[in-house]
Amino acid sequence: MTLSSQLSKAPHSNSPLIDIHVHLYESKESGSNAKDSYVIWEYGEDPNVEFSTVSGDLEELSNTYKTGGFDRAVVVHLFDTALARAEAKARLSPKYSREGENLLKANLEIDIAVGQAMIESNKWIAEIGQTDPLIEVMVTVDPTLLTPKELVNHLSDLANKGIVGIKLHPVSQGYLPSDPRLFAIYDVCSDAGLIVLSHSGLGHHGGASARPSEFASVLSQWPNLQLVLAHLGGAAWQEAEELARVYPQVVFDLSEIIEWEGAPNAPSQHDMSTLIKNIGAERVMLGSDFPWYDPSRTVDRVMGLPGLGPGEQAAILGGNATSLLRLD
Ligand SMILES: [Zn+2]
Repeated sequence: MTLSSQLSKAPHSNSPLIDIHVHLYESKESGSNAKDSYVIWEYGEDPNVEFSTVSGDLEELSNTYKTGGFDRAVVVHLFDTALARAEAKARLSPKYSREGENLLKANLEIDIAVGQAMIESNKWIAEIGQTDPLIEVMVTVDPTLLTPKELVNHLSDLANKGIVGIKLHPVSQGYLPSDPRLFAIYDVCSDAGLIVLSHSGLGHHGGASARPSEFASVLSQWPNLQLVLAHLGGAAWQEAEELARVYPQVVFDLSEIIEWEGAPNAPSQHDMSTLIKNIGAERVMLGSDFPWYDPSRTVDRVMGLPGLGPGEQAAILGGNATSLLRLD
C-alpha cells in the first residue's frame, strides 16, 4: 500500500466524504473541450501540477466517486457561454448575411439563443441531481445572458427540482460580485436558503474580478446569504482571512488552489495550513474541481496538510459540507 492510499483511507472511513466542487459534462467531448479552453493562469507556472486525464461525463464521474468512496459529488454547474455563443453564431449569422439583414438583429437572436441554451443546460443538470443519489446540483447563473426577472423566473422553475444552490463565475462571465444585475438573485437565494458558490480569484480582463474583498459588500447587504468562495480566494488568497474575520457566514472550498500549492502566486503547504487554521477548519471544505483534478488525490492533499487534527480533517473532508447541505 502506498503512503497516499494509506492517508486517504485513514480518518474518514466512518465520516462523510463530500466533494463540494465538481463539474459534469454531457459528453466526453464537451468535457475535454471545456478543459482545453479553460486556462488556469493566476497562480503562475507550476510544472508539478497533476491534471486528471478524464473528461467528466456522467459515467466517469460515477466511477470516480464510487471508487473513491465518496458520499456526494456536488456539481457546481458552469455553463460554457463562449462555446454556446460560437455555436449559435455559426448557426444564425449565415441566415442574416444571406438575407442581407443587419448584424444587430443577428446578435440579438444569438443572445436569445445563448440564454435559452443556459436554461436548457440547467434543466439537464437539475434532472440528473434529482435522479442520481450521488449528485447534488448548483445551477449556473450568468447575469449577462438573461434579465434579473428572467433569472428569478428560471430559478423558481427549478425550485422543485431539488437544486441546492447556484454557481457564479464573475471572471469568466465578466462582472463583479456586487453587480446590480445579481441583486434579485441574492434576494431569492437568501430567502430560499439556496447556497451561492462563486469562483474567487483575480480578474484578468475588463473590470471583472472575484477577489475575496469584492464580496464584502454582498455579505454586508445579504447577511443571511450562504456564500461559498471557491479556491480559497485563488491567487488573491491573502484577502480570504480578513473577509472571513469580518463576515462569519462566509465559507470556502479548497478546489484548484490545493493542487497549485507552492506555485509562485499560491500558498505554500505551510501557508495553506495556517490560513485554514486562522479561518477555522469548520469553514473550509474539500473541493476537487473534477474533472480537472482527481478527487481522491485531493483528499490525500488535505490529509497531507501539516498541523490539522483528525477532527479538523474530518470536518474539511465532509462534516462541514454535510451541515451546509443539511444532509444530517
Ligand atoms: Zn470549478
